[in-house]
Amino acid sequence: MGGLHDGHTQLIKSAQKSLPNSAASVLVSVFVNPLQFGPEEDFASYPRNEDQDCQIAKNSGAQAIWLPSIEEVFTKGVDEHFKVKVPETLKAHLCGLHRKGHFDGVANVIIRLLALTKPDLLILGEKDWQQLIILRNLVQDLGLAVKIKTVATVREKNGLAISSRNQFLNPLDKEIAIGLQQELSAASKKFQSGKEISLNKIRSSLRQRGLKVEYLEVVDPHLLHPVKPSNKISLLAAAVLCGTTRLIDHTFLMKRKPIVAIDGPAGAGKSTVTKAFADKLGLIYLDTGSMYRAVTWLTQKHKIEPDNEEALLHMLKELEIKFEKTKTGEQKVLLNKKDVSYEIRTPEVTSLVSTVAAQKVVREALTAQQKHMGIHGGLVAEGRDIGTTVFPDAELKVFLTATAAERARRRAKDMQDRGFPSVSLKELETEIKQRDELDSTRKLSPLIQAKDAKKVITDGMTIEEVIDVLLELFRSKIPEEVWPSPTF
Ligand code: C5P
Repeated sequence: MGGLHDGHTQLIKSAQKSLPNSAASVLVSVFVNPLQFGPEEDFASYPRNEDQDCQIAKNSGAQAIWLPSIEEVFTKGVDEHFKVKVPETLKAHLCGLHRKGHFDGVANVIIRLLALTKPDLLILGEKDWQQLIILRNLVQDLGLAVKIKTVATVREKNGLAISSRNQFLNPLDKEIAIGLQQELSAASKKFQSGKEISLNKIRSSLRQRGLKVEYLEVVDPHLLHPVKPSNKISLLAAAVLCGTTRLIDHTFLMKRKPIVAIDGPAGAGKSTVTKAFADKLGLIYLDTGSMYRAVTWLTQKHKIEPDNEEALLHMLKELEIKFEKTKTGEQKVLLNKKDVSYEIRTPEVTSLVSTVAAQKVVREALTAQQKHMGIHGGLVAEGRDIGTTVFPDAELKVFLTATAAERARRRAKDMQDRGFPSVSLKELETEIKQRDELDSTRKLSPLIQAKDAKKVITDGMTIEEVIDVLLELFRSKIPEEVWPSPTF
């Protein structure tokens, strides 16, 4: 919209960093969009400074800047172009409730700008969170061939979210405006420490600071409907008037760091991609399959029948499973301090693990341990029942799968790499199908796709391609502000 500032500079820099090759370039579009202003709003006085915008875009590393007129955007005339309507559910709260027509105006201009420029990547700031979610839905629902990358809200040193409208604030207003972020951030910290927060109290604190509250709501960050803050991330967002200047800001409420649940059948490539994905994002990697394998190995060692509940219980009481990272980045599995990483991958363990994993006492003991390991979050857990049973409130759930034939090919390669004797593809496929059957028909926590999981079918995809899909899914669910991307 113009009036470029440090927030835009960060968007441009982020675009620069994401260029796939030297032939690609960064285009900045500047268009004060009349469609998104209501009749009483500040279209006429919205900051416009084209010369300065060009200078800032250039200095920040953009290759081009485009400042079209309304006739260039709506070439046939505004009313002659197809229009979209933002679903009511996405605009029933926050700014959508108070700025009628605003998001329809945003969506229709963005569609035209995308149609005219055909970018590969669209960089959006997280500051206008509702706009970001609406545009994500727009791109997805219309199948537009553009990826979205986001940049965390850029703030002044004192915490004030940078906005074009901040230039309307005089020094005294600015002092008052800072109060918005201070109240939101205090609420977020309070919630994180396990205390309840009261929206009414925050509203009255904002008023005492001289800010007029338009709205203050806690909503689901993706569906944008009101929620009670829980373990899962929620969004605390506000719009206030500071003098005559309207300011918006938000924070995220969370008791723990984010959790990613990756489930799927045997041989879907979960371990390889989950581990690499966790490493890239700096998340802890929890391979729950290896815990079931470790228990299975121990039952074999002690010659315990899988249905001998009493013996299993006794064994589980003494059980301590730990993961340790080696210098080369491999993950060792320690069972009562012994490294069993090799033993738990033998064909003998593989053929018995689903039977042992179906036992009630085993599931209860391991599920409790896994929940405990995830108490502070910040982890990616893979298995069969992570999204349904272990971490039902995970922020991102993925169901990773592939055809049985593809999974057999991958298993064969994996076994070859680990130095196990080769088995025919047919035998492996049969064994994989049997394990699928056992895992998905057992009574307790069977392997099923969680309702809110995203299914990814990995046939024909390279490991890197699957990791890229996971990274994109992660970014679409977990804000940069909460868990920054170190790698892109
Ligand atoms: O993933 P991996 O093949 O190592 O898992 C081994 C077995 O452990 C699975 O086939 C399944 O029977 C069991 N398992 C489970 N629940 C999990 C993870 C694994 O039942 N969360």
